[in-house]
Amino acid sequence: MNAANFKLSGIAVPVSPADMLEEICEHFVEHAEVERKDDLAVLRSKLGVARIRIENAQLQIELDCPTRETLHMSRTILAEHLFYFAQDQPFELTWSEPTSLSALPNLHEVTVVSAHDVTPHMRRVIFSCTNVTPFVHGDMHVRLLVPPKGKPPAWPGFREDGRIAWPEGENALLVRVYTIRAVDSDRGELWIDFLQHPAPGVSTPGADFARDARPGDVAALLGPGAGGLPEARSILLIGDESALPAIARIAAEAPPGTNLRAIIEVEDKAEEQPLQTDGVLNVQWLHRASYPNGAADVLVSEAKAAIEGADGETFVWVACEKTDVRTIKTFLKARKHDRRMMYVAWYWERDVNNA
Ligand SMILES: Cc1cc2nc3c(=O)[nH]c(=O)nc-3n(C[C@H](O)[C@H](O)[C@H](O)COP(=O)(O)OP(=O)(O)OC[C@H]3O[C@@H](n4cnc5c(N)ncnc54)[C@H](O)[C@@H]3O)c2cc1C
Repeated sequence: MNAANFKLSGIAVPVSPADMLEEICEHFVEHAEVERKDDLAVLRSKLGVARIRIENAQLQIELDCPTRETLHMSRTILAEHLFYFAQDQPFELTWSEPTSLSALPNLHEVTVVSAHDVTPHMRRVIFSCTNVTPFVHGDMHVRLLVPPKGKPPAWPGFREDGRIAWPEGENALLVRVYTIRAVDSDRGELWIDFLQHPAPGVSTPGADFARDARPGDVAALLGPGAGGLPEARSILLIGDESALPAIARIAAEAPPGTNLRAIIEVEDKAEEQPLQTDGVLNVQWLHRASYPNGAADVLVSEAKAAIEGADGETFVWVACEKTDVRTIKTFLKARKHDRRMMYVAWYWERDVNNA
């Protein structure tokens, strides 16, 4: 994106500007066009352009965006990531101007229309949304924000450093990441498919929201963001149930002629879903319930075999459990698969005790 009228500058002070710039380039290459020249990194995406330069032991940031909304979204995305990269180390971030928006521009209040089971363990919630346009053909992922039961929602705003100011205490929201499975523009509706994953002794608030959803329940979606529809003639899709909504959407929106191969791990045959596409799709379903005792890495083994058979023109899309994703990512890196031709993300983490 070139022409831009909305500008903002910022100064970030990390412990090591060089390391942070490296991390920025490494991370954003999957979400933006990244150009690196010595101490300057330029990130171009549909939100606009970010120029980040090491100067006087600081990172000088210049944002250049087509609208006021994309400017604030770019600022927030960058701020959230920079604080994440800094982890526990000292880090400061200041901007030339405070935000001029009262609400997050990509926050959409939604209302539950209905909910039903697609398969025994996949529950679809249909939401109405005043403006579904941002969800059409774009990034697929959202943060679902659910207010505490029986309380009017208090939605997040901005912090001075650009990060999101989340409501706290009795207004604290449940926040989970999901995929927009489909957009029904005519009806102004969005579908989200929630895996019902019983975790013994541990609560599953995201899954429970879908289980208990009733018409009229209010929530909000923050996004869409990260995770667009891959553009390639040949796409290899690998994932488990948490990725099935995304895989189904990619297949549904792939242009005619696209060659798609999908390897999808589900519990058993009853969890399989018919996948619509205008492309040519070959699906291999893996049934966890039929694995021999002790087999834990069937998806990873099948993924590696498929990646070995994929050429450099194939877009490799992978989403599943964190450890499995790391193994597959290491394998892809070792094979020197082009970073721009892959999306590799973990969607959940095994054995996280949130009790
Ligand atoms: C970009 C992205 C898109 C996603 N899209 C979807 C989607 O469309 N549909 C969907 O169902 N999920 C999706 N997920 C995964 C979802 O965010 C997680 O599964 C989330 O942890 C569910 O929240 P929860 O409150 O139900 O469980 P949590 O409170 O997060 O976890 C409770 C327990 O359940 C376990 N657990 C969590 N997820 C799973 C799982 N998938 N299988 C088995 N055990 C699990 C955890 O290890 C933990 O012990 C997506 C994640 C990402 C990052």
